[in-house]
Amino acid sequence: MGSGQVTDWQGKNVTVAGLGVSGIPAAKVLHGLGAKVTVVNDGDDARARAQAAELEALGIAVRLGDGATLPEGTELVVTAPGWKPDKPLFTAARDAGVDIWGDVELAWRLRGPDAAPWLAVTGTNGKTTTVQMLAEILKAAGLRTAAVGNIGVSLLDAVLGEERYDVLAVELSSYQLHWAPSLRAHSAAVLNLAPDHLDWHGSMEAYAADKGRIYEGNRVACVYNVADKATEDLVREADVEEGCRAIGFTLGAPAPSQLGVVDGILVDRAFVENRHKSAQELAEISDVEPPAPHNIANALAAAALARAFGVPPKAVRDGLRAFTPDAHRIAHVADIAGVSYVDDSKATNTHAAEASLAAYESIVWIAGGLAKGAVFEELVAKSAGHLRAAVLMGADRALIREALARHAPEVPVVDLDRTDTGAMLAAVQEAQRLARPGDTVLLAPACASMDMFANYNQRGDAFAEAVRELGAGA
Ligand code: ADP
Repeated sequence: MGSGQVTDWQGKNVTVAGLGVSGIPAAKVLHGLGAKVTVVNDGDDARARAQAAELEALGIAVRLGDGATLPEGTELVVTAPGWKPDKPLFTAARDAGVDIWGDVELAWRLRGPDAAPWLAVTGTNGKTTTVQMLAEILKAAGLRTAAVGNIGVSLLDAVLGEERYDVLAVELSSYQLHWAPSLRAHSAAVLNLAPDHLDWHGSMEAYAADKGRIYEGNRVACVYNVADKATEDLVREADVEEGCRAIGFTLGAPAPSQLGVVDGILVDRAFVENRHKSAQELAEISDVEPPAPHNIANALAAAALARAFGVPPKAVRDGLRAFTPDAHRIAHVADIAGVSYVDDSKATNTHAAEASLAAYESIVWIAGGLAKGAVFEELVAKSAGHLRAAVLMGADRALIREALARHAPEVPVVDLDRTDTGAMLAAVQEAQRLARPGDTVLLAPACASMDMFANYNQRGDAFAEAVRELGAGA
């Protein structure tokens, strides 16, 4: 299929792998363009059958219960991003010389000739927040834009819909990047790089390489995290357009070609006239909500991308002020008897929890859930100085308890020994008992929620509800 736009889809045999949030719209769009689409799907349950019936009614072929066999005559595979690269379907496609595109690659290839440029963001944590901040900043500059990717508008809608955009703020996961070989962003940021999803990628090197694809072919700026050398290494390895610059962001004072913080002010020493002598004030730390260190880093990354696009300093400040974080991301729930209760249920891995625990001085930490193969040694060793106490629940709580015993033996630990949904109320009650005025009770589980809850939203809601119950009794 080459690497450019495909203009003639008429009669092309396309196999779409996976019924789901990306597969169904992809199948419909390709069918609408005249391609001969076959959807293959591993599952064959009632939901899949209903979805298949809907597609078949449109004239799209669907094979349920067999996501492994490549249909005869396939000229292109379009896959759901989550499908693992070692699946037999892909081996068969590669053996037959058939290209494999993910949802992002498809959207990229279907863009029109005057399509909006992409400002792209990836990283282990902070993607959604940064992309939302970026979209607010771009809007404040009067640009027509949207936050797209896992959030807001879908990528296909953004490139094919009626709405005209000047620029898109695009969140990309490592899976999506893996399957997007020809994507070329205007500018891109890798926020941080910690081990995650290694079972999918196969190794840390492969995971990093997929994240690094976001910089390939950048035109204006590759934005990296000065505190995370791995992100800078990815910039160095990337093949970018002539003149594209490496721009760092740091919580310290910025060197030339960096954005950073000086005396509580976010400053730009990259996109200014004389970066060796001067810096441009962008916003104050208090313009960022919540003003936790990792979130200031997110704001700086968003600002760097916006400045790379030519946005004036005032729009950075106005955009950051307009931004409100999504639920369950360091959300302040209540203050009761001098103790602050904070819901960071979205801290589903150790890297996120570490950022969260670094944001408060004295914490009663509520943690536990499904560890997904994580180890907690480093998290606990780094956070020990901030812990008043810990309350543990969930399936893999013993791993955290053991790490606490090794690296923070002086910290009192309550092991609830429970995995039922109701354990959250007990956890909050224990935390209240352990907390002193001035402390923060922080739900930052460092684990996935599915052992006890439907998802992290429900876990955060249960926490907030338990806190309200405490408040009512106080
Ligand atoms: P993502 O879209 O990458 O999952 P979110 O913006 O939804 O990221 O944030 C998820 C969680 O990650 C937050 O609840 C917070 O605990 C943590 N987090 C956010 N930004 C950062 C960062 N820059 N570094 C480390 N952890 C972060």
